[in-house]
Amino acid sequence: MTSTRFDIIVIGAGIAGLTSALALRQAGASVAVLDRGQPGTEASWAGGGILCPLYAWRYPAAVLAIAAEGMRGYPALLDSLDSRIDPERLVTGMRILDPIAPGETRDAIAATLSQAGIRHEWQTAENQDALWLPEVANVRNPRLLDALLDTVRARGIELFAQRAGQEVLTRAGRVTGVRTPTGELSADRVVVAAGAWSEALVPGMREESLFPVRGQMLRLEPRAENGLDHILMDEGVYLIPRADGSVVIGSTVEHAGFDKTVDDTAQALLHAKACRLWPSLAGARITHRWAGLRPGSVDELPVLGEHPGIEGLWVNTGGFRNGLAMAPATADLLTALMTGQPSTLDPTPYRVERLLDS
Ligand SMILES: Cc1cc2nc3c(=O)[nH]c(=O)nc-3n(C[C@H](O)[C@H](O)[C@H](O)COP(=O)(O)OP(=O)(O)OC[C@H]3O[C@@H](n4cnc5c(N)ncnc54)[C@H](O)[C@@H]3O)c2cc1C
Repeated sequence: MTSTRFDIIVIGAGIAGLTSALALRQAGASVAVLDRGQPGTEASWAGGGILCPLYAWRYPAAVLAIAAEGMRGYPALLDSLDSRIDPERLVTGMRILDPIAPGETRDAIAATLSQAGIRHEWQTAENQDALWLPEVANVRNPRLLDALLDTVRARGIELFAQRAGQEVLTRAGRVTGVRTPTGELSADRVVVAAGAWSEALVPGMREESLFPVRGQMLRLEPRAENGLDHILMDEGVYLIPRADGSVVIGSTVEHAGFDKTVDDTAQALLHAKACRLWPSLAGARITHRWAGLRPGSVDELPVLGEHPGIEGLWVNTGGFRNGLAMAPATADLLTALMTGQPSTLDPTPYRVERLLDS
C-alpha cells in the first residue's frame, strides 16, 4: 500500500472539482484531484455551456444568487487560465420566446432579474412578449475543461486519472484520507465534487438527496447558412451558436438513473423543434449526439459546505442545470469557507446538513 500525503484531496475532476482545486491551490494548499475515469468527461463536458440559468427567475433565490455570481466571475476565471486552449466564451445574448408562464408577470420577472444583476429587455412582436438578455454568454465547455486541466497541471496539482475515491477515511470524527483501488492517499481535508455520483461518498446522506438527471443534446455542423448569432430558447429547447458556426441544441430532463443512452425519439423532437425555431438549420447535418448526467439535489440547491459530523469532509456538488455557470462562485465560496475568509455569498442555504439523516 502506498501512502502519499496532501493538504486537500478533491474527488472528481469536473468543473466543480477542477475550479475548487485551483482556488484552493491559489490559497496555498497542496492539492490532489482524483477521477475514477477520464477527467473532464462527464456532465461538465456534456453541458451546453450557457452561462445563465434558463428561465432564471423560476429558481430559488439562492440558486440565482450563486449562478449570477458565477456568471460575473467568468472573465476572471478565464484570464487566470494557463493554457493555449481558448474556451471560446462568446457573449451572444439569449432570447427567450416564452418567458411568461401562467401565474407570472412581466414586473415580477423583471424585478427578479434586476435583483440578480442580469440585464434584460422586453421585445414585443405579433402580440407576444419575448425577453432579451443581452449579456448572456456561452463557453465551449469541453475546451474549458481541457484548459482547466492544463492549468491544474501547470500549478502543481497532482491529478490522478482512472483512480476512484472509494471511501473517505476517518479517525475519531476527522478525515484522514481517501481509499482508492491502488492504495490510500492521506489528507486532512477532502472535497467531494463527484457530481451525480457524490451521494455514496458522503456518510449519512439521506437516500436520493443527490441523483443523476439525464440531459440529451445534439450538435449541427458549422455552416454559413446556419446564421444563428444568439442563444434562442422556447418551450424548454435552446439553440446555442458556437464560434465555429456550429449549433448545439438541448436538452431533455430525464430521471433515468445512471444511464447515458441517447434515444432517437427524444433526439428527433429536439431537432424538429430547433428547425421550427430557426428554419435555416433544417439542412444542417447532425454531427454529434450525446447525453450527460447532471448532479441533481432534492431541493434543486447546490450542496456546499463541511459535513457537520466529520471534521475536514467538504462537499461541492448539486450544480444541476447550472453547474457550469456557477463554478467560479462555488469554488470561491468553498475556498473562503475552508480558509476562514469572509465570503460575498451567504453559505447557509447550501449547507450539507439539510440533506443528512436526522
Ligand atoms: C445536457 C446537459 C446540459 C447542460 N447545460 C448546462 C448549461 O448550459 N449551463 C450550465 O451552467 N450547466 C449546464 N449543465 C449542468 C452542468 O453541466 C453540471 O451542473 C456540471 O457540469 C456539474 O459539474 P460537476 O463537476 O459537479 O460534475 P461532473 O462534470 O459530472 O464531474 C464529476 C466527476 O466526478 C468523477 N467521479 C465520480 N465518482 C467518483 C469517484 N468515486 N472517485 C473519483 N471520481 C469520481 C466523475 O468521473 C466526473 O468526472 C448541463 C448538463 C447537462 C447534462
